[in-house]
Amino acid sequence: MFAIRGAGVVGLWQALILARRGHKVTLCERSPGPFMHGCSLYAGVMLAPNCEKESAELIVRDLGRRGLALWRDAYPGAIANGTLVVALQRDRAELDRFARMTEGHERLSPTELAAIEPALIDRFAGALYFPQEGHLSPEPALHFLLEQAQAAGAHVRFGDGEYPPDVDLVIDCRGLAAKDQLSNLRGVRGERIVVKSREVNLARPVRLLHPRFPLYVVPWGNGVYMIGATVIESEEAGPITLRSALDLLSAAYALDPAFAEAEIVLQGAGARPAFPDNRPRIMVGRRYIYVNGLYRHGFLLAPVLAELMAAHIETGAVDPEVFVADSC
Ligand SMILES: Cc1cc2nc3c(=O)[nH]c(=O)nc-3n(C[C@H](O)[C@H](O)[C@H](O)COP(=O)(O)OP(=O)(O)OC[C@H]3O[C@@H](n4cnc5c(N)ncnc54)[C@H](O)[C@@H]3O)c2cc1C
Repeated sequence: MFAIRGAGVVGLWQALILARRGHKVTLCERSPGPFMHGCSLYAGVMLAPNCEKESAELIVRDLGRRGLALWRDAYPGAIANGTLVVALQRDRAELDRFARMTEGHERLSPTELAAIEPALIDRFAGALYFPQEGHLSPEPALHFLLEQAQAAGAHVRFGDGEYPPDVDLVIDCRGLAAKDQLSNLRGVRGERIVVKSREVNLARPVRLLHPRFPLYVVPWGNGVYMIGATVIESEEAGPITLRSALDLLSAAYALDPAFAEAEIVLQGAGARPAFPDNRPRIMVGRRYIYVNGLYRHGFLLAPVLAELMAAHIETGAVDPEVFVADSC
């Protein structure tokens, strides 16, 4: 029997894959109900392994491609409309730089851009289109994972930070809360605003490149858009600052002036769990394993790490890119 600690996106995927493979699993979440604390509810969610190569380690692209495929197979709400990356005329060089750093994109002229995303007509120097990418809205996706894990036989306990003492293995997916045992884990604050608008009409995530505050917008459906996100070396979650709100909202307005009439429905910041090199890790100790440090890519990578963990449990397989011995 396995105990999984923490029902964020990482713990939920672990529970789902292990339960579906016939393992006996108890998922223990400290909060009294689902998704009340932790980072996962703040995510975009872009499933963008090719775009992420601009700033992330290669491992994120490589594992991320598999993660994207797993989401598409498992979750009907994963939308596969690709990603657009745009820059204003004056920031054209940013688009060239992004193109050099990434792969899997097509260069679109302003006319081609308007053909697939009519709201972006006449304001941009063209775009990069990453057709192989996807996105989803975090809350329904997390509920889906929870329901599916329970349907597959996982036992879920809320309001309980403890785990049964007689388990064969504990899988610790507590995100930043595992800092009490992992001293090199840190939080990276991500602020975001969620708006609702009848005027804005975007079908896919759009990243606006800007030398000072790059931003992205993710359509969550029914006129709701997530505008994100800052990347600040701080563990503070909670309300966002006025400065970040100004940056995020000005950039959204530059992307599409129709945002001016949008209603702000949510704001807040989550603290992304990250190791010093921003790489995800599975840290294997005796009967206790940590899965953590998924940083800006927790949704993208969680299904792959769950698959790797299941293979490890069943065959002893160890992917040296991800697995490390736990010396805590
Ligand atoms: C603004 C923002 C935008 C993002 N956008 C994206 C994106 O577009 N794509 C992407 O892939 N990723 C994105 N991320 C990153 C992603 O959200 C994180 O990597 C991911 O949520 C980390 O998940 P986790 O399960 O490790 O941690 P968490 O979501 O923090 O979950 C940890 C859980 O453990 C529980 N817990 C704590 N202590 C205990 C205990 N003692 N016992 C039991 N349970 C406990 C907590 O209550 C919580 O539910 C974004 C993050 C932010 C902040």
